[in-house]
Formats: sequence, structure tokens, C-alpha cells
Amino acid sequence: MSCCEGCCRGGEVDFTETPVAELYGSNCFSNAVMRERLPKNIYKEILAVQAGEKELTLEVAEVVAASMRDWAIGKGASHYTHWFHPLTGLTAEKHDAFISPTGDGGVLLEFSGKELIKGEPDASSFPSGGLRATFEARGYTAWDVTSPAFLKQDKTGTTLCIPTAFISYYGQALDKKVPLLKSIDALSQQAIRVLRTLGNTTSKRVFTTVGPEQEYFLVDKCFYDQRPDLILTGRTVFGALPAKGQELEDHYFGAIKERVADFMRELNYELWKVGIPAKTQHNEVAPNQFEIAPIYANSSAAVDANQLVMETIRGVARRHGLEGLLHEKPFAGVNGSGKHNNWSMATDDGLNLFDPGEDPASNARFLLFAAAVVEAVDRYALLIRSSTATSANEHRLGANEAPPAIISVFFGGPLTEILDNIAEGKTGGKAESGATIKIGVTSLPALPKDVSDRNRTSPFAFTGNKFEFRMVGSSQSIATPNTYLNVSVAQVLGEFADKLEAASNKHEAIQNIIKESYAKHRKVVFNGNNYSDEWVLEAERRGLPNVRSAVDALQVLIRSETVSLFEAHKVLTKEELESRYHIYLEKYSKQVNIEAGVTIDLARRYIFPAVSSYASSLAQDAAALAGIGASNAAQSKRAKRIADLAGELFEETAKLETALTEAQGIEDAFAQAKAYCEKIRPGMDSVRGKADALEKIVAKDAWPFPGYEELLFKL
Ligand code: ADP
Ligand code: MG
Repeated sequence: MSCCEGCCRGGEVDFTETPVAELYGSNCFSNAVMRERLPKNIYKEILAVQAGEKELTLEVAEVVAASMRDWAIGKGASHYTHWFHPLTGLTAEKHDAFISPTGDGGVLLEFSGKELIKGEPDASSFPSGGLRATFEARGYTAWDVTSPAFLKQDKTGTTLCIPTAFISYYGQALDKKVPLLKSIDALSQQAIRVLRTLGNTTSKRVFTTVGPEQEYFLVDKCFYDQRPDLILTGRTVFGALPAKGQELEDHYFGAIKERVADFMRELNYELWKVGIPAKTQHNEVAPNQFEIAPIYANSSAAVDANQLVMETIRGVARRHGLEGLLHEKPFAGVNGSGKHNNWSMATDDGLNLFDPGEDPASNARFLLFAAAVVEAVDRYALLIRSSTATSANEHRLGANEAPPAIISVFFGGPLTEILDNIAEGKTGGKAESGATIKIGVTSLPALPKDVSDRNRTSPFAFTGNKFEFRMVGSSQSIATPNTYLNVSVAQVLGEFADKLEAASNKHEAIQNIIKESYAKHRKVVFNGNNYSDEWVLEAERRGLPNVRSAVDALQVLIRSETVSLFEAHKVLTKEELESRYHIYLEKYSKQVNIEAGVTIDLARRYIFPAVSSYASSLAQDAAALAGIGASNAAQSKRAKRIADLAGELFEETAKLETALTEAQGIEDAFAQAKAYCEKIRPGMDSVRGKADALEKIVAKDAWPFPGYEELLFKL
């Protein structure tokens, strides 16, 4: 099997010669652009709306809309769209032209404040989990001022994209943005309460910052086009590993191949144009696997940016005769792809709350906020785990490449020791040989100079001034993981604030809170190798949940504790949580259903005919050889082995089909997803086992599609 020569050359990129500094943000209606183009008072209003201090008025929206329109049209835009995040996990857009007929055959290009702040897409075809029936299809999109508008350029022309939140006619959240924004508000409220008790009088708002590291694979488009499984499911449901996998570890951080370099260059340019600060790029562990990481931003903008990063990877890849694979596990036997969600909390006046700092006050603040995260991660481990529960990510979690399904926090030796000492009522820590810091009359152990140990196996690692949540899957929207994190930490900070506000001696209270909280929740802290079997046992002894199945993990969404948590912080209602639960279960079932369908189809229509005719050609060879009295033992033996395996493949396929029909008939969403997880998945593995065994013994050119060798090593 070879690639059709010449059709997959990359490099025909019309790169602008514009210097990067000029190019950067040229298609982004950023605050810098607004500052330049808007009247001063209007720009100030927008800043206040972004900071959550004011509501947006129609008057202000009118001025911004006119300015946005002129800016976009000046750059060739013909359309605008409210760009949003429905519960499909993807983004959605419906383009409207700016044109408005004048009545005499001409047109004006118009865009009103109303059109900027509110859209009314027909919401009936997006998943709503029963929140909205088709007869009441109306939903609204509302401008999210915290994420900048941008221009998208493709074959449809240039479109002004306005990031929006999507809600039903009755105000329920139908997307991933609404709860995210609400969770940021909730966290901000509680964090500010805590900061006030610590004597902070200047910060007005706390927001979360996020920097996602995006992993992906690239494969040659010619090979991709010959793999219906990749086309239809994003992953290979068949494929024997070639003699070489990733064991030499020669790809990680290796020199970037020319064709990939060309792709990366254009990817960076495209991202920079829309104001996404793409910063780091490198080869990842698996062959043909790569990573791109932008500089972090506020979570809302970071969520939008990450969706654009994924979309741009795919778009640019196609222009280079490549296909970008964002699936969590495109290939069995080599690493899958994740998305490290680097998360921190910052104040509007520039303070990173997870920055240990150098003076006693910032040390105490750091320890308090860090303790809050430990407590939140321990108490809401199931919820946080569930934010990564998808059928695709299930291939990674618990396997030997991604963090296990057990949530634990890594702090590194020195910090853990300090927190342990506080929990035990001791001061000091080995790292600073018993040094202490005074806060008021009480003292806390001094923090070591360098707190940023490294641990690559932890699902939730402290990395110096941020936490890195590593369970997130590569194709996922990061909105949900961040929403759940925010609301969990908001709850704990709220409880801390209650205690602090009531305390007469704040310093003593700080120490007591850290002490009590950490003593109770330090069982979630683990600094060792998370990929080891011992950890699984140890975690069990500690009573930490280990929910391997995505379907089981999702159940936490409808538990009463979860409902109370989300309702207390006004992030999601019981009804909204239930609808999400159903949507995610359904999505799980649908995805496995498609994969199983593709497995059956490929086994029957591609592999079986190919191997049968190959076996019979071997048998014919054997007969012909016998006819001339030559030795034919090898031909006969191989023909029989292949024919036997083909028979087994046929049988396993039939079994899978029967199981699939049964699963399809299950009414209850949970029971159905369970069946897909426990019956269909193993059934697919059995079919695959036979097919992969066949692939290893059938002639290369008799195999019906390109194999792992082409997909993973040829670029
Ligand atoms: P590491 O080596 O720990 O992975 P990097 O500097 O490579 O750290 O950063 C990885 C990602 O973390 C980048 O996207 C970076 O912008 C992001 N990041 C750095 N600081 C913060 C922060 N305070 N909040 C959120 N993300 C951050
Ligand atoms: Mg990292």
C-alpha cells in the first residue's frame, strides 16, 4: 500500500510576509483594538462589564457593534456569527450576512447592538437532554464579553465570530459556556471573601487562568482516506503494531520533520492571527504525535481558544495533505493524546494565588489556597473525575500511559512535608531546617525556595504556581473540567471564609483551618509513581475512589451532593445536571455504537473478503506446486491457518452483531451505556484480535487498507 505520490505535498502556504508582531492579533477584536477604536467612556464600560462590575447596556452595545462591524468589514468580512459551545463538545456557528437591502436595489452593511448581544439560532437540533422539546425550539445566544471576537477566514469568506453563551427560552444552560462563566463568578465571590479576611482590600475579582497543552497526531491524508474507521470514528478499530512502536522513545522532543515543521509554521501563523498566543510545540512520545501549548489566558478565552486550536489543527493539516487526529486513542499500543489543563487562580490586580511568594503573608495565603484545592479535590474527586469521562478517554485513563482513574494531588516532597507538619501541629520542615514564618503571633513553616518538583504521572500536579490537571482528553472541550474544578474549590473556599469571618484571631484561624483541612484530606496527596500497581492498592487502602469506567463515573452528576453543590453556587440546576447526565450517557453509547458498526462493516466487507481470497490463492498455489511434484507444505499450512482465522473472525463478528442488536434495544440510558461498555467493547476487542492476527500473516499488498506502519511512521 503506498501513498498516491505527489498529492500530499504540503508547503504550498501563502504565508504573509508580515512580521509576527504585526500579524499577531490582526484578526482579533481584542481589548487593544477596542481601546483604539472605541470612545474612551465606552471602552471603560466594556472593561467594567468584563470585570463583572456592570451590566451591558444596549447603548454601549450599539457603539461596540458599529465599531466591530467597521473593523470586520474593513478586513473583508461579509458575515457575522454567534459562535457557541453546544453540548456536542464542538462549536457551532450560523452565518448571517451584514447586508440589509435599501429597497432601491442596493444594500447597506449593518450590524446592530441587538445583533451583537443576542442571537436566536434554531436550537432544536442541539442536544438538550430533554430540557427543550422540538416544539419549543427557541434558544438564545448571548455575547460573552470575556472572550474576544475574531475573524474566521475560509472558503465561505471572512466571518466575524462573536463568542456567545447558549441558553434555552426558559433560561436553562444548553451549552458549556454558561456554567463555566457562572463557576468563575462563584469562585470569585468565595475567593474574594477569603482574601478580605486576609487583609486584602484591593482585589475586586478573582478569575481562573488556564493554559491547555494540546496533543494530537498527524497522518498522511492519503492513508487516512483509505481507513473508514479513522474517517468515521477518529480512531483505528483494527491495526497490528509494526515491529517498532514507541519503545525507543526517539520521537519525544525529537527533530521535527520538514513536512510537520511546515504544518506547524502555518498553524502558528493562523493562531497568532486570531490572537491565540501559541508558544510551545514539540514531538510527543508516540510516533507522529505532537503537542502545541499556548500561553495561558482567562478560562473563558482559553476555552474558546482551545476549540479554535483544535479546529485549526484539522484545517491546516488538510492544507498540507495531512489529517489531524484529536481522538484520545487513535492507535492501540502507542500512547494516546491528552490535554494537560494548567489551572490557576488570579486576582484582577495581578496576584497569582498559587504563587508561594516570598513574604510571610503571601506564604500563608498560598498555603490556605493550596489547602483549599487539596480539600476540594478530595471531596469532589468523583465529580472531577467525571469531567473527563468520555468513551474515547476511557482508553487512556487507567491504561499505562495516562494518569489512572484515581484522583490524587502531587505537591512534591518539600511542600508535602510542610503541610504534613502543619497538620500535625509542628512547625518547620526539613527543607528549611525548621525555619518558620511568623504571621501575627502564630507561626507557619517557611516555604522552601524552590517548590516546583516534577512528577509526570500525577493526575493533578502542583507545578510551581499552578495545578496541572492531566486527565482531560485531547478532543474534549476544557469548559467542563474547569467548571467542575471551579465550583469544587468555590465550595471549600466558602467554608474557609465562613470560619475566617467568624474568627476573632485571623492568624490563628488561618493556621487552624489549614491544619484541620489538610489533616482530613491529605490522603489525596501522593507524590509517588501513579502508574504503578502499588498505588492502586495504596489508594484503595486510603479509601480513594478508582472509577475506571466512564459510564460509572458519570453517575456522580445526579447524586444529591452534586446537585446541592451546583445549586448552592448557582452554576447548574438539578434539571440541568440531569439533562447533562443523559446527554453524556447517550453520547457514550452512540460513539461505541458507531465504532462497533464500523468494526463489523470492516471485518465483513474489507478484511474477510481480502483474507479469504488470499487464503484461496495460497491453496491454489499449493495445488499447483503439488502438480509439479514440488514441496507445498508452507503454502498449505498458511492457507489453512488464514482460512481458520478468517472463520473465527467471521464468528466473532456475528457475535458482536448479536450483542449490538441487544444493546441497541435497551431503553434505559444508563443500562444501555453499561452494555456498550461491558459487552460491546470486549466484543470489538475479540473481532480485532482475530483481524490483527490475520494482518500479521497476510501479504502486505493483500491487506485491504494501510496499516500502522504507514499511519504512524510515514510522513
Ligand atoms: P510545564 O513545564 O510545567 O508544563 P509550561 O511553562 O510549559 O509548564 O506551561 C505549560 C502551560 O501552563 C502553558 O500553557 C502555560 O501558559 C501554562 N501556565 C503557566 N502558568 C500558568 C498559570 N499561572 N495559570 C494557568 N496556566 C499557566
Ligand atoms: Mg506541562
